[in-house]
Amino acid sequence: MLILLICESKNFQRKIPLPERCFKPKIKGMKKILFSAEYLSYPDEKALNSNDAELLAEAKKALKTSYSPYSKFKVGAAVLLENGEIVHGSNQENAAFPVTICAERNAAFAAAVRFPGVTISAVAITVETQTKGLHKPVPPCGSCRQVLLEYELRQEKDIKLILQGDSGEVYTVSSLKDILPLLFDASFL
Ligand SMILES: [Zn+2]
Repeated sequence: MLILLICESKNFQRKIPLPERCFKPKIKGMKKILFSAEYLSYPDEKALNSNDAELLAEAKKALKTSYSPYSKFKVGAAVLLENGEIVHGSNQENAAFPVTICAERNAAFAAAVRFPGVTISAVAITVETQTKGLHKPVPPCGSCRQVLLEYELRQEKDIKLILQGDSGEVYTVSSLKDILPLLFDASFL
């Protein structure tokens, strides 16, 4: 979908695509910085290459271990390591809601403990809703993006994400940096 913004001038109006939004700095030296990011969309898992499809299938298997009695929103994740190992994770909820942990964070932490120092190549994330009617990919929450970014920066190698809802459309993202702009990292410490 192309989002248009109407820019008004004295005597005319024109439609401008979102990345070129009108910007009139009111203060000298003020700038507007635009982010750009990309991800790929596939109609379903059958359109993926075999490696990505297999990792997504592993994430589906991980759904079985989800403990989600409160949200009824099962999430499964599978981390592929450079040594070929795959580590599962699932969301683990708690009656004290804030201590609940997400599937992809569980999987990343488990991988780091079981295979310390081994590079993460990709993470697949999927869900199972009660109605099984969620056909759009579910991206990681902000906290999980930050956690996965830490591993990506530490290993100096991008982590690919493969995302799907109950079924249908799949997104692939080639780096955490694409979905976490204006990021916070160790350079600030
Ligand atoms: Zn999360």
